[in-house]
Amino acid sequence: MILTKISVLHDNYIWILYNKKGSCIIIDPGVADAVITKIIQKKLNPIAILLTHEHIDHTGGVNKILKIYPNIIVFGPKEIKNNYIHEVVTGGDKISLLKKNIYVFFTPGHTLNHVSYYLKPYLFCGDTIFSCGCGKVFNNNYLDMYYSIELIKSFPKYTILCWSHEYTLSNLNFSINIIPKDKSIKKYYKKIKKKLYLKKSIFPFYLFNEKKNNIFLRTNDPSLIKELKLQSKSYFDIFKYLRIEKNNF
Ligand SMILES: [Zn+2]
Repeated sequence: MILTKISVLHDNYIWILYNKKGSCIIIDPGVADAVITKIIQKKLNPIAILLTHEHIDHTGGVNKILKIYPNIIVFGPKEIKNNYIHEVVTGGDKISLLKKNIYVFFTPGHTLNHVSYYLKPYLFCGDTIFSCGCGKVFNNNYLDMYYSIELIKSFPKYTILCWSHEYTLSNLNFSINIIPKDKSIKKYYKKIKKKLYLKKSIFPFYLFNEKKNNIFLRTNDPSLIKELKLQSKSYFDIFKYLRIEKNNF
């Protein structure tokens, strides 16, 4: 399987996964035109759309894509009310496409019914976690978000995380502000900044690297807890504290 991404809107990524025959799956098409251009360019045949959650910057392109490619099957969680959803999915479901199994994981927190899709080694995690950060928590569902992030942490270490927004540098800026003495994060910040300056790709993002440099995946890390002076708090409290601090950053 070959993975490609399209950068659209302010900072969104749309992912397209395709096989050697050119059959493809589109993940979270927030816009249509850039996707259609890519499909034509690469001579692809779209067979399915996977949606992680209801937000318009993830779903806004679906209607127009369907008008041009009416045979596409659209998968998504029940929170997406639009009538273009053909198959409602939730955690535990298995989707068979392109002769592969795609496993659906329930990852609420950003929204009430957010899901992520796993096709080894790729995890399409929408707005649950980002490079060195995590999504905003709507509906005050901090506990759901905490457990969703813990679930993602349990994936194999070479899982490639495919999130829907590019916030790497701003997330690292926040992390440095919160734990300025952390050597790993400071080193990683320099590395990413240099790559971006040289216009080099910062992909792929592996889970094992996020475990070192994403503070939201380190809420049980004694060095982080010590630096935050939150030794008396639970791991969940530390997560909530960090997320609220990020909201105000
Ligand atoms: Zn969202």
